[in-house]
Amino acid sequence: MRARKPPIRTCTGCGNATDKRDIVRFVRTPEGDVHLDATGKAVGRGAYTCARLECFETAIRKRKLASALRVNLKEDDTDRLRAEFETLLQDTGALAHKDGDC
Ligand SMILES: [Zn+2]
Repeated sequence: MRARKPPIRTCTGCGNATDKRDIVRFVRTPEGDVHLDATGKAVGRGAYTCARLECFETAIRKRKLASALRVNLKEDDTDRLRAEFETLLQDTGALAHKDGDC
């Protein structure tokens, strides 16, 4: 019996592999929409950032998130995702206020 390696989630913002609990998943649905996947279980192509606004902004600014999802994110899309991201951080206050490494 060997323990299976947990899947590594790499933040598209800072590039660090991060514990799954502290990561936010974005998903591109089969319809081609991109949204924040709070459950982590939505069907579609996924990409990740740390649960930090900094990493989200970096991922957007450098187009890392868009390229990971293989989509073209328009400004409308990024505004909507940012709003969803901020809501998520507020909902999970523990994450938002946690200090430490990315
Ligand atoms: Zn990060």
